[in-house]
Amino acid sequence: MEIKKENRQWLDTMNLKHPIVIAGPCSAETEEQVLKTAHQLKNTDTNVFRAGIWKPRTRPGGFEGVGEIGLPWLQKVKEETGLLTTTEVGNAHHVELALKHNIDILWIGARTTVNPFVVQEIADALKGVDIPVLVKNPVNPDLPLWLGAVERFYANGIQQLGVIHRGFSTYKSTEYRNKPKWQIAIELKKEFPNLPLILDPSHICGRRDTIFDVSQTALDLNYDGFMIETHIDPDNAWSDAKQQITPARLGEITEDLKIRQQHSSKEEFQKKLNLFRRELDLIDTNLIDLLKDRMGISAEIGTLKHKENVSILQSTRWADILKNMIAKGAKNGLDKEFVDQIFKAIHVESIKIQHQIK
Ligand code: PEP
Ligand code: MN
Repeated sequence: MEIKKENRQWLDTMNLKHPIVIAGPCSAETEEQVLKTAHQLKNTDTNVFRAGIWKPRTRPGGFEGVGEIGLPWLQKVKEETGLLTTTEVGNAHHVELALKHNIDILWIGARTTVNPFVVQEIADALKGVDIPVLVKNPVNPDLPLWLGAVERFYANGIQQLGVIHRGFSTYKSTEYRNKPKWQIAIELKKEFPNLPLILDPSHICGRRDTIFDVSQTALDLNYDGFMIETHIDPDNAWSDAKQQITPARLGEITEDLKIRQQHSSKEEFQKKLNLFRRELDLIDTNLIDLLKDRMGISAEIGTLKHKENVSILQSTRWADILKNMIAKGAKNGLDKEFVDQIFKAIHVESIKIQHQIK
């Protein structure tokens, strides 16, 4: 399925200049909180005001959003500030109510993207409706699930689409609330090059102090914009208090971000870039040759083990290799997790090769 070039045109139609800034509270709490936040955001680079009306909470009993009564507050935001509005829809009923209250853009939450039944229900409710939809990545790092959700909307004739990278939950605790997986978003862009890609650093970081750095990384990777949770009194927010920032802080962040151009026509720059790229291509070719040799030796070891009826997995030997390589990598300035991932992938492949030996 090819998402057409025209699919970016809604950005121009809505006057969303690069980088797009979507800001506003995690949840709409009161009319006053919503309007105050919006008026303060009006003085920043914000183009679109976000607020969760229905909140998907992991366990019941938490604040589950104000519901329908909050929708007129968003309409008021638009009337008083001119900002466009967006909210999360989690079922066909939400869609109906959001459309009734003239919300400008809808977004699909991470807990919805994981469920093709619900995505389909929402896509069906939007058939024949001309409204942009932003699809957040699913909670788990599953690219086909994310692609599938986009395809369900597109197949139903919803042309004004975008995606939001909000990070992925991990079993192990990390410095992030939801770990960014830049490569998954890059793969998604490979499938759908014209799809606007937005970063949600708030749900990635889960805290305030790292939002700037993660946002800069996104700009360096050509993201089209951001969705950042913003509250007039973050510490007392009814949901996601730790990660929300004030409108003033949001203003500072968008001021300080360095916006990159996609290309430069300067001759000197092009020459240097081409040289580096040739070097990289050479190194990559060497890597492939080395991997081929390494797998060849693995196969020889496999034959040897097979003949002697020795088991393939030698866990202490493998634990030693991994430990040594991580230590060697660290000495050479290579990230521990990066080396860990590479060697785990190599190990899995080696075992597979040894398994095939009969
Ligand atoms: C949100 O944007 O407030 C939200 C619930 O996000 P996510 O679906 O990414 O968890
Ligand atoms: Mn939130």
